[in-house]
Amino acid sequence: MRGEEPVVIEALKMRALPEGSCDKLLEFLKLYRDALQMVVDRVWSINENLSKKKLHKLFYSDLMRLGFRAHHAKEIYVYAESVVKSARSKNGRKPILRKLSARVDRYDYRLDLDSMTLTLKLHSGYEARLKLVTSSERVEKFKSWSNYEMVVKYDGSGFWVSIYFRRAIKPLKPRTVMAIDLNFDNITIAVLTSNGKLLGLKRFKTPHRKVLIHRIWVERIQRRYPRSWRFVKGVKKAIDKHGKKIRNISWVYAHRVGDLVAELALKYRSAIILEDLEKLRENNKKGKRFNKRIGLWIYRRIQFCIEYEARERGIEVAKVNPRGTSSKCPRCGKKLAEYRHRVLRCRKCGFVGDRDVTATINLYKKYVSKYSRCGVSGVALNAPKPDENPSGVQGNRDDAMKTSNHMKLYES
Ligand SMILES: [Zn+2]
Repeated sequence: MRGEEPVVIEALKMRALPEGSCDKLLEFLKLYRDALQMVVDRVWSINENLSKKKLHKLFYSDLMRLGFRAHHAKEIYVYAESVVKSARSKNGRKPILRKLSARVDRYDYRLDLDSMTLTLKLHSGYEARLKLVTSSERVEKFKSWSNYEMVVKYDGSGFWVSIYFRRAIKPLKPRTVMAIDLNFDNITIAVLTSNGKLLGLKRFKTPHRKVLIHRIWVERIQRRYPRSWRFVKGVKKAIDKHGKKIRNISWVYAHRVGDLVAELALKYRSAIILEDLEKLRENNKKGKRFNKRIGLWIYRRIQFCIEYEARERGIEVAKVNPRGTSSKCPRCGKKLAEYRHRVLRCRKCGFVGDRDVTATINLYKKYVSKYSRCGVSGVALNAPKPDENPSGVQGNRDDAMKTSNHMKLYES
């Protein structure tokens, strides 16, 4: 994280219509593919790791002789080497390239987003001009980004280009910590200061129950047609319909939560703390809070969107092991017991707290103890003393319920 400035990279894929004849462009793509294959064949037979310098020495002049430009040549040998490497790591056979596709470095094309035209420098001094076909809204945001590479493809019926854009983001120096607890029914968000004072609480409902209903339908159909559901058209169609609903509900929700959380983190200038779902595998008690029937994918999807939106805004995201966060007392560390509905109590020290809010406090404490020592985070963290109740935990429980109503994201 330190050192190099973080960047966001995005590809913009569009149809492209050649202005005039496309013969030279097709010729270029064929030449490019054959050259790529030639380099792949030779790298394959050499069977050792080749440095960029070595690749240059081996292939540069041959590629130039075929009519390529300097940066074409570089793209070809670098890409060929990576193709070979990935085929080897999969223990595969020598790659055979069939597709007509070329990577082009920014020195060999000119992009004009205002007129939506792309000029490509081809072999032997030829050029191709392409008209890019996409909506102006899609393009708008990239006007302030820089682009550094592109891929042009021919799929048998037409040309496609993908332009790779990047934008440097200034990492935001966090002043507060936002801990997020995800469970089956709710997402709970707590914003805390570096010394453990609770600044805000929000709670959103999740659509997981609705997803589960579709999941149950799918299971029911599969049970009724245990052998044939994959093959019978009508049955497969019914399953697909539910699958589509599930995907749709979860993506729409994840995007909205991601956006909302990132905006909130920006407002409070928070570092975002999430549960490390990968660590859940090692922890033995994962069943309870993450419903097994809908699987972890839905939680991952929500986290993915939160992380994506956060990174775009330069917000730091950290993950901590969720072990014990929903069952331990944040004050003394003893196991908590059910007290009332969704409320937990510590028999040792008398702490009482909402189940989900308690989880966020524990996530916060884990983050503080993990990062304050090695100083990775920019937050000046003085962890709450073990006997100090992070303020507002009890009193704000009802507040959390209140905010959940008007901030409700999902109508069930
Ligand atoms: Zn306790």
